[in-house]
Amino acid sequence: MALEALSLASGSSGNAILVKDDTTAILIDAGIGIRKLTAALRYRGVDPSELSAILITHEHSDHITGAVRTAHRYGVPLVANAPTLQAIRHSENVPTQVMDVGECIAFGGMQVRSFRVSHDAACPVGYTICGCKSTITSVTDTGMLLPEIQEEAANADLLILESNYDEEMLIEGPYPYFLKYRIKSENGHLSNDAAAGLIIDLAESGRTPSVWLAHLSKTNNSPSIALATAQHLLWAYSGEHLNISVALRDIPSLHWIGN
Ligand SMILES: [Zn+2]
Ligand SMILES: [Zn+2]
Repeated sequence: MALEALSLASGSSGNAILVKDDTTAILIDAGIGIRKLTAALRYRGVDPSELSAILITHEHSDHITGAVRTAHRYGVPLVANAPTLQAIRHSENVPTQVMDVGECIAFGGMQVRSFRVSHDAACPVGYTICGCKSTITSVTDTGMLLPEIQEEAANADLLILESNYDEEMLIEGPYPYFLKYRIKSENGHLSNDAAAGLIIDLAESGRTPSVWLAHLSKTNNSPSIALATAQHLLWAYSGEHLNISVALRDIPSLHWIGN
């Protein structure tokens, strides 16, 4: 059963990644409105009622906008750690499932585990999803590359990695100082350079995952700059090429099929 990942939306105005195999489908985040989410899922051949889980990384609106309504309407559990579930306003009749950080839970043939990231939310996490033969790791909304992130990334066949901002564009851009500071902080977001650093480390240790650059800022980045930074630094430092793509912001874009 091949594991697949499909980007439905990715960026600071909405995030949703569909991961599926032949029998099971789950979402990582549901940060777009229910109508748009339903259309994007159906476009990819999945009815929302067929989802086994909506994994939530953290409670910021760009990750949960459509989560509660989708969970309620289609009876799909919101899966997250207890502090995150607490931080999401929802009524008692919304199905939920607590998943502690580091815990591993099976959904059909997929093994899902969460790991800590560094972000200004209640208890933010990334997720690794293992199928029979391949592994997907998704890391967004982290100001630092913690050791557990590096460990998870090292085993991924597909690495979905935040590449939020270009340093220069952020510094010279229109955001107020406090927001620039927050984005650059250890609990903020990952820059293009930082994302490239992790990709270089992976290449130098002989890993060759496919990489999706994700969660790009609309104001402080562009797909072409993010991609050029990653490819240029990777080539300059390691002399390697990897399969690197950019997940688009508001529309379904990338589709990866593993083994
Ligand atoms: Zn976000
Ligand atoms: Zn966030």
